[in-house]
Amino acid sequence: MSLALRNWLDLLQRDGILRTVSREVDPVYELSAVGKKLDGKAAVLFKQVKGYTMPVVTGLAWSRELFAKALGTDVAGMLQRFNRALDQPISCESVGRSGLALKENTLKGDGIDLARLLPAATHHEKDAGAFLTAAMLIAKDPETGEKNVAIHRHQILGANRLGALLLPRHTLHMFNKAEAKGQPLEVALVIGVHPLLLLASQATTRLGVNELEIAGALLGEPLRVTRCETVDLEVPVEAEFVLEGKLLPGAREAEGPFGEYPRCYGPECPKHVIEIQCITHRNNPIYHTIIPASLEHLLLGAIPREAVMMQLVRQAVPSARAVHLTPAGGCRYHAVISIDKKHEGQGRNAIFAAFTSSTEVKHVVVVDSDIDIFDSEDVEWAIATRCQAAEDVFIIKNAMGNKLDPSSRDGVSDKMGIDATVPLSEPRERFEKIAIPRFDAIDLKEYLD
Ligand code: MN
Repeated sequence: MSLALRNWLDLLQRDGILRTVSREVDPVYELSAVGKKLDGKAAVLFKQVKGYTMPVVTGLAWSRELFAKALGTDVAGMLQRFNRALDQPISCESVGRSGLALKENTLKGDGIDLARLLPAATHHEKDAGAFLTAAMLIAKDPETGEKNVAIHRHQILGANRLGALLLPRHTLHMFNKAEAKGQPLEVALVIGVHPLLLLASQATTRLGVNELEIAGALLGEPLRVTRCETVDLEVPVEAEFVLEGKLLPGAREAEGPFGEYPRCYGPECPKHVIEIQCITHRNNPIYHTIIPASLEHLLLGAIPREAVMMQLVRQAVPSARAVHLTPAGGCRYHAVISIDKKHEGQGRNAIFAAFTSSTEVKHVVVVDSDIDIFDSEDVEWAIATRCQAAEDVFIIKNAMGNKLDPSSRDGVSDKMGIDATVPLSEPRERFEKIAIPRFDAIDLKEYLD
């Protein structure tokens, strides 16, 4: 199976869900506005972006169905497939550089002007400028050699300089080791890839797992990678662009504000700096931007997190049915879990497991399996009719949360669990949903004049 972005776009086109825009659009706000209007409906390929020659695509996948399709499975099997990939990564296959489309063009030194080359969008009103939002950052631990892949936001600060927001996760862990020795950390930024690769990059695994090997496992065969030109790293061969550079020790520059997934702005503050020294790209490259807080952005975060959450919740409560990170909670902060409760107290155990699965999880609701956890009205109904706050709500103070949550105290956050399951000791009928017999069979056309 080809993992080229353009093959995925061909597939979307065949399904009639790739829209094209030939009219010129401004990369400042206009591109983002048009893309956002089509969020959840279609991918958009902008052919004429003002000031640039290359097309820009956004919204590669915006539904669970599309991400499942990218993984070659269906929605029901998606989380399980992701978890199997986490358990059994497949090593990458290194291939030579010659003849690869990715190496058709090489820019170095003065030939690099990021703002002139890349049609990076300014997405939201108060964004500090143009940001790369779909670049997978590949780095290697300077001590162990273990590899890591992550998507960070990158503000274009100068001809060859990017600001990078490194949250306290794997990339930062590796950079801190390098910086402690006064050394830079080599990085490769990969832009323009298949959604399978983007999903794999979002795996919330332990340190030391190479997300490209998870991509291989999702693919069912080794992912083909090749050496960079100026850094000791390997990158997927089918990417549109690779930016090679280094995270600079001792350097911090103002980055932000930037409209983020919680639909608030992350503030301006000093952030890490990447210097780019080499760019390779395909002929007629396609640039990919992810509109922050779009369904593409949110689901890329949700699916890998739900997969890990499902695994941990099932360990705690074997009869757990499903988990959902809701879009209104940025697909990070709010989880809903359904269980077939067999023993009193299992609701809370499920909630503990959900908190363990990701530091970002903040509020968890657990419901019985007659509730549709993908329907927020149904979940709210369960809270309204099956929950007594003094009994069923508990709060944990001062745990680690997420810095992008504006209500957190620099990332320190309270957690809340809501057990909206029916107590096993209570008669079930009292909690039964009302229903009209034969309601679903009624066809209004047969009744209305
Ligand atoms: Mn990692």
